[in-house]
Amino acid sequence: MLNFTVGPVQSEDYVREIGSEQVPYFRTPEFSEVMFENERLVLKFAKAAEGSRAVFITGSGTASMEASVINTLTKNDKAIVVNGGSFGHRFSEILDIHKIPHDDITLETGKALKKEHLSAFEGKGYTAFLVNVHETSTGVHYDMDLISDFCKRNGIFLIVDAISSFLADEFDMARLGADIMLTGSQKALACPPGVSIIVTSPRALKRIEAADAGCMYLDLKRALSNGERGQTPFTPAVGTLLQINARLKKIDEAGGVEAEIKRINGLAEYFREKIKAFPFETVSESPSNAVTSLRPTNGVSAYSIFTVLKDEYKIWVCPNGGELKEKILRVGHIGALTMRDYDELFKALEDMRARKLI
Ligand SMILES: *Cc1c(COP(=O)(O)O)cnc(C)c1O
Repeated sequence: MLNFTVGPVQSEDYVREIGSEQVPYFRTPEFSEVMFENERLVLKFAKAAEGSRAVFITGSGTASMEASVINTLTKNDKAIVVNGGSFGHRFSEILDIHKIPHDDITLETGKALKKEHLSAFEGKGYTAFLVNVHETSTGVHYDMDLISDFCKRNGIFLIVDAISSFLADEFDMARLGADIMLTGSQKALACPPGVSIIVTSPRALKRIEAADAGCMYLDLKRALSNGERGQTPFTPAVGTLLQINARLKKIDEAGGVEAEIKRINGLAEYFREKIKAFPFETVSESPSNAVTSLRPTNGVSAYSIFTVLKDEYKIWVCPNGGELKEKILRVGHIGALTMRDYDELFKALEDMRARKLI
């Protein structure tokens, strides 16, 4: 199997080997040390401000999206959501469920956020801004400097879902003044799914302290206070946290977040150059390094390309859901992939072309 989806992605062998071992008991000083190291390295890679914290939630990325909302926002907030695809839509739904007032900036598929979109919201008493810096469903990477300037100017609390962008695209949490940054285990961290991470600025910690989460499992006050002793309130995905630890340490040894971003960017550029020879156009106006979204230009269904690659070539690219299902497919650049792997994919595409399937 060769997996070019955007998560779960392929893991390195050293990560997979940990997955084959027995899962240890975790209320121990040894496991606390692992968790302290996980927190330290995540804060370092996120470039979080002094006094920030990171907590590890057992639950996929959406659990951390929801936890961020219920622990830092209330019905007295007035939020802006960048809704440019299914993940932006998810933030909007979470706010609806928790009855937090919001207005959405709805963007067409593949379109970037521009200054004009924000000007209507200037000086209007908005208190929170929620964005998926990389809208994974369309491959659009938003301009964080534009968003950061807007939020700083208006004193707005900034929640950034960087779930598929962390370690793949540059992100400097302190410089951007982001208050919350989210990521997940199954994207560029390239570990099994099941763990997500919430990085909180000192300002976010104050909001969390004052909040009534109205929920036990996702109450971040509990997660933060347990984290002070390297623990979690409930049994976490212990095995996955050990895999995350190995992966974070390896990234650190190999040159840190900059080197990892450069490696992923190299794969993205290699793919984007070679795909030009095939009948696809790129969809995103402003692509993330994590994924390339493609539209077949000759009327072939994107979903059928996905199916043929999967069933006949054992290669997984990433289909889209909903109304984009037949129109767009995505090829990821995160996970344990090499240029040789892309050569395999291009060989399969050549073959499909000879068979008149693309
Ligand atoms: C993957 C992803 C999520 C989380 O999805 P889960 O299925 O809950 O892990 C959230 N936001 C973005 C931008 C993502 O790419």
